[in-house]
Amino acid sequence: MASSPMSTWTLRLPADLARQLMTHLFPGDGDEHGAVIGATVVQTDRGSRLLARRLYLARDGIDYVAGQRGYRMLTPTFVRDRVLQCRNEGLAYLAVHCHGGTTSVGFSPADLASHERGYPALRDILGDGVVGGLVFTPQAVAGDLWLPGEGRVELDHALVASWPLHAMRAAPLPAPTTDLTYDRQSRLFGDRGQAILAGQKVGVIGVGGAGSLIVEYLARLGVGHLVIIDPDRIDRTNLPRVVGSRLSDARPWLTDPARPELLRALGTRLATPKVRVSRRVARQANPKIKIETLQDDVTRDDVALRLIDCDYLFLAADSMQARLVFNALVHQYLIPGVQVGAKVQVSRDGSVTDIFSVVRPVAPGFGCLWCNQLVNPAKLQEEALTAEQLRRQRYVQDENVHAPSVISLNAVAVAHAVDDYLLRVTGLLPVTYEPRWREFHPAAPAPLDRVRSQIPRKEEDCSECSDAGRLGLGTRRRLPTRS
Ligand SMILES: [Zn+2]
Ligand SMILES: [Zn+2]
Repeated sequence: MASSPMSTWTLRLPADLARQLMTHLFPGDGDEHGAVIGATVVQTDRGSRLLARRLYLARDGIDYVAGQRGYRMLTPTFVRDRVLQCRNEGLAYLAVHCHGGTTSVGFSPADLASHERGYPALRDILGDGVVGGLVFTPQAVAGDLWLPGEGRVELDHALVASWPLHAMRAAPLPAPTTDLTYDRQSRLFGDRGQAILAGQKVGVIGVGGAGSLIVEYLARLGVGHLVIIDPDRIDRTNLPRVVGSRLSDARPWLTDPARPELLRALGTRLATPKVRVSRRVARQANPKIKIETLQDDVTRDDVALRLIDCDYLFLAADSMQARLVFNALVHQYLIPGVQVGAKVQVSRDGSVTDIFSVVRPVAPGFGCLWCNQLVNPAKLQEEALTAEQLRRQRYVQDENVHAPSVISLNAVAVAHAVDDYLLRVTGLLPVTYEPRWREFHPAAPAPLDRVRSQIPRKEEDCSECSDAGRLGLGTRRRLPTRS
């Protein structure tokens, strides 16, 4: 896709990178400081995203010095070296500095004059990449982006993918109009919060027991756009757990055990897809909601790519390959997400050994499923085998034996995951909040053991979540999909 000057341009910053940048720009001395961000450019249906991948801090007095025309400037050597680094990595070059002020910011005439003088040459060196300038206050950002060709656009907003999910603009948005439907909840997070939810595009991977509840909650909260992915159809055993499913969805007159094999197979093929049940549920809650349903597997490349312009991802499917793809989407495209699930572990003799629900929020660059060993390579290989190969190798236990599952266990995980999402996007979390992964063990012998929390590990050179790996790479690396 070609970059169009008409498209909306936004910037996404992983939490660590944003923290380093803001500490550098605002050390408390009230002075001006500078830096350069190298960013991957991703074109999507919802506009162009700049994904911050590299941060180069300019040292005061060495790289950032008294200006000839403006107050301060990056030295020509610093600029040249950074532009070349950006070119080598195929990144956009964004010069950054800070201004005084709080919730609004704009470029000075001297800033704009220096862009006019310098950016055409930088764009040439960069080999027709994006060149731009960003100016920050602690709460606002403005951007002047020069696109390949003649295009020149302003940055719409920057998003720090952290806790809370913090959007910065050149000036606060005007107060939105109120919708009476959401009166009770917008008393909690405000009309602005409600407007943020209406503008969100959220992906839900898997709409079984947990995912169907997620869809129900998000639709009722007023999230504007959902992408729902699940390959399966409803069967009779889904009815106790899949929200909105009806007996008729399972085609009971055909799938009844008394019917001949052929009819039962036909019934299974004709049963309602889970994604269609979810769409029905979401529409009932909010007739205006925009819904894309894919009755397909997220481990297929074209399916996974439908999620790259989402604002948030919920993973409620439990294959290793789905975990791997979700994990890569979060870090590669800087989209925060959460993995939810519930499990009842039963030993060989049939006794229950553990019951738990899990909520694992994953933010770009903040520990990942891979470096916490939640993607098991052996199981990953096993999943890649066909059903026939599996049978021959007798890798898995009898495929007709299913794990126990109960709606309330899913509801515990889902309620926490959706609460986290809501508080993150509407800005209700304090910036000092320290996220944890949580497990809920309702049958633990001691009350204190019922909720366990853990700070995820982060391997410094993780191939998935570090900037030596996928972090911020966008479409420049293939997702770990099958086809
Ligand atoms: Zn300035
Ligand atoms: Zn990792």
